[in-house]
Amino acid sequence: MSSIKENLSQIKEHLSDDVTLVAVSKTKPLENLHEAYNAGQRIFGENKIQEMTQKWEQMPKDIAWHMIGHVQRNKVKYMAEYVSLIHGVDSLKLLREVNKQAKKHQRTINCLLQVHIAEEDTKFGLNETELRAIAASEEFQTLENVHIKGLMGMATFTDSETQIRREFKKLKSLYDSVQNDFGTLSILSMGMSGDYKIAIEEGSTMVRIGSSIFGARNYQ
Ligand SMILES: *Cc1c(COP(=O)(O)O)cnc(C)c1O
Repeated sequence: MSSIKENLSQIKEHLSDDVTLVAVSKTKPLENLHEAYNAGQRIFGENKIQEMTQKWEQMPKDIAWHMIGHVQRNKVKYMAEYVSLIHGVDSLKLLREVNKQAKKHQRTINCLLQVHIAEEDTKFGLNETELRAIAASEEFQTLENVHIKGLMGMATFTDSETQIRREFKKLKSLYDSVQNDFGTLSILSMGMSGDYKIAIEEGSTMVRIGSSIFGARNYQ
């Protein structure tokens, strides 16, 4: 089996300088994160706030922590002090809470709005109408402690490359078309271990990769 360091360098060969790699370390022990850190990785993604907070407490402080999972409003307060980017914002209500908690810590929290692009309905996210409604809402303009940096989406879990590509294309075109509604967007977060190469071809600027770096996850 290849090491985390080898996996990272192999993946990086496929990434140009304008694509950011988020190492998705959810469920993985600290020693795995240290190995990635020692290989130079400084951005880690987690999907549970409690687990991310424990890791943030124990890992070096120059790491940027990305929340990539579905966020419950009552837990935002636990990550507001340190989270660097929240990928999965899918409502104005959640944005309001992030803004409130960010303000308490006198910071601005960067967020992505999660868009539902998959043709299966098990994944979270906004549709185009809801996305545009947020941009147009008066309340959104008043939220001074959140900064919408871009969009995030997950393609259907399928072997069909045609379908995955179609879904990524849809997200990229939405990203282009809402550019000015949110100020200027710079992050399009799409692509995971199984589909990041297609995502990059379709315009991704940020990939979230877990199992190809750390190996398969073991959910107990
Ligand atoms: C787990 C997860 C990933 C990483 O998945 P891999 O297939 O292991 O690369 C990416 N994005 C989200 C939102 C995830 O929950």
